[in-house]
Amino acid sequence: MRPLLPLLLLLTLCTCDRAQMPDTPPTGPDAEAPPAYALVIHGGAGTILPENMTDERAAAIRAAMNAALDAGESILKNGGTAADAVEATIWVMEDSEHFNAGHGAVFNHDGENEMDASFMTGHDQQAGAVGGVKYVKNPISAARAVLEESEHVLLTGAGAEAFSARQGLRAMDPEYFYTESRWNSLQRALEGEKVEQEKEALDVDKKHGTVGCVALDKNGNIAAGTSTGGMTNKRYNRLGDSPIIGAGTYADNATCGVSCTGWGEYFIRYAVAYDVHARMAYGGASLREASDAVIHGTLVEKGGTGGLIALDRMGNVAMPFNTPGMYRGYAKAGGEREIKFYKE
Ligand code: ASP
Repeated sequence: MRPLLPLLLLLTLCTCDRAQMPDTPPTGPDAEAPPAYALVIHGGAGTILPENMTDERAAAIRAAMNAALDAGESILKNGGTAADAVEATIWVMEDSEHFNAGHGAVFNHDGENEMDASFMTGHDQQAGAVGGVKYVKNPISAARAVLEESEHVLLTGAGAEAFSARQGLRAMDPEYFYTESRWNSLQRALEGEKVEQEKEALDVDKKHGTVGCVALDKNGNIAAGTSTGGMTNKRYNRLGDSPIIGAGTYADNATCGVSCTGWGEYFIRYAVAYDVHARMAYGGASLREASDAVIHGTLVEKGGTGGLIALDRMGNVAMPFNTPGMYRGYAKAGGEREIKFYKE
């Protein structure tokens, strides 16, 4: 029976229901030659609908995403590394109040900001992550420092903070992470809790705005990073998928780089980022087939909501999501650039 297994896996991949296929087409046909560089970002998936958006807010989010793409692209254009591009791109989104990461991070049940981030480089499969940090200004840099300067992969809480301080990373007072809209979201969640069960009060719409970036540099190296405040009203030092390598972030030059956003518990259970890589590595799926099968197949079947961005070494981009919207965008050598919020 054994030889049948790979065949079955391939058949499952190929017969992935086209009716479930997304309204997020890939960016053109599969590339035949890689672009000099490429960069893809997300700013979170969730109930992002035109009817809930003002022109002013849409313009501000678009401007922040363009600034993030500019930061990464200027590095890649000048021959910089994918890792430098990912870090610089995510800095811009962490520093913006519009995303649930860094400055705009959501509040936990106790009215604090507890942030998570992860970083992976595809040429050497090195990875670093931090969970539950409260003071590091740019958690993505802490994750990268774990990758480069420690023998560990995941540091959490006070230890992660102490490590970041030793690396000379900037720490901020808690007030820096206060934003009125996130504070109001927590108050609404706490109000809701009075009438709902604790578990229900943590519904999926209370968690979106995570940021992520995947880059391909001129040397063909891929890097991926993800940064988040997690979910509003979380407690018990809950960690989502964002600091978990293989769940929220993954990178392998041979296949792709991935950064996820959505209901973290599902992304952890189904090892979403790694699953995209594995379908390409073991099943021969294309980037688009692998990404769609996970987001529109596995996750939909299991009830997990969210999306991901992925980039392969040929510069193909996939940005599937099964929520009403996902802030997403990409830039490639030659001036190709797109930023989108909603379903097509
Ligand atoms: N995945 C993140 C978490 O569960 C939240 C998000 O992406 O919006 O912590």
